[in-house]
Amino acid sequence: MPVSARPLDRLADFPAIPAGWAYLDTAATAQKPRPVIDAIARGYAETYATVHRGVYQRSADMTLAFEAARRRTASFIGARAPEEIVFVRGATEGINLVAQSWGGTFLKPGDRIMLSVLEHHSNIVPWQLIADRTGAVIDVAPLTSDGRIDLDAMAAMLTERHRIVGLAHVSNVLGSVLDARRAAEIAHQVGALLLLDGCQAVPRMPVDVAALGCDFYVFSAHKLYGPTGIGVLWGRGELLDAMPPMHGGGAMIDKVTFEKTTFAPPPARFEAGTPHVVGVLGLAAAIDYVDAIGLDAIAAHEGALVRETREALSGLNSVRLFGPDDAAGIVSFAVEGVHPHDVGTILDESRVAIRAGHHCAQPLMAHLGVDATARASFGVYNGPQDIAALVAGIERVRRIFG
Ligand code: PMP
Repeated sequence: MPVSARPLDRLADFPAIPAGWAYLDTAATAQKPRPVIDAIARGYAETYATVHRGVYQRSADMTLAFEAARRRTASFIGARAPEEIVFVRGATEGINLVAQSWGGTFLKPGDRIMLSVLEHHSNIVPWQLIADRTGAVIDVAPLTSDGRIDLDAMAAMLTERHRIVGLAHVSNVLGSVLDARRAAEIAHQVGALLLLDGCQAVPRMPVDVAALGCDFYVFSAHKLYGPTGIGVLWGRGELLDAMPPMHGGGAMIDKVTFEKTTFAPPPARFEAGTPHVVGVLGLAAAIDYVDAIGLDAIAAHEGALVRETREALSGLNSVRLFGPDDAAGIVSFAVEGVHPHDVGTILDESRVAIRAGHHCAQPLMAHLGVDATARASFGVYNGPQDIAALVAGIERVRRIFG
């Protein structure tokens, strides 16, 4: 397969990527393009005020911008209404919110939760916490030999006791893409809900929650070229309506008395306290940025980079590749006889930044029979020059370790 005929060539938009530095750690966090940095700077330097409460014009204007960002986010992922968009700190908080609020209300002793072997710790531990509290039990769907969630096996494991299925839309280690529509059908057949962890999907492919048929979807802005500290929980309106708040405080109430407090409808019910106002503006700018490029174009670009990387690395003996050939934007690998941390350190000397470690997916590491992998992951700023630098760096690793 040829490399993307037209590389995206967006490097110039990213002031924090110096010339000659191959940044291959976008799955951990994406670098920020100038329009996002400018939107954040403007939010603090020109238009700053709190939202939802101020009686003065500046605050009313900021509230309009904040709620416009919510509508922008809703249309970006195909939500029916902006009220289905809850701003949270990140995917981790979004999953904890569903586990604590939905799970804490609806899970009963003996109910079952279905996860998969490849989940990120943030789609495992919140469920363990709520399982301990409610008496629910966690089941784990296996993987196919090429590193996808085995939906046939999952379908065979699901029972009427399963209330929720939580799966990564794209694996942060293997890059494998879930057939999310099929996962939703399978979950719904037994009456279970489907939560998708979209952290690694939203930056690299078009996502439409209505078309996918899922029930909850979470992602973090910082992996989508936006700021840290802000993320999104989307939930079907009727599910959010039935859920109690996780945090209490200002902005999430209808009326407070010491005898009885009533809560605001979603999304305010789940957004206690002063929100990350400027973070939300940064998220909207990031959405505008990727939308202008086009998620289809980004998917094609990263797909080509993955194919070229896998081809180049499979030509090096002593390099083991993980995950499927059609992975989205992520390639995990190991160099025989060299710890991934050493691979990462030597690559850093060659000005190639990769991630090495367990990637917050220790059960997947155990499944793969390793305690860590090296991982290269791509973004809109990467091109064939970064793959060349990666391959040259790995050849240097092999020379150093003989
Ligand atoms: N899920 C996946 C698949 C991820 O890649 C990550 C981030 N590594 C998370 C969840 C957690 O995201 P955050 O740390 O932004 O909350």
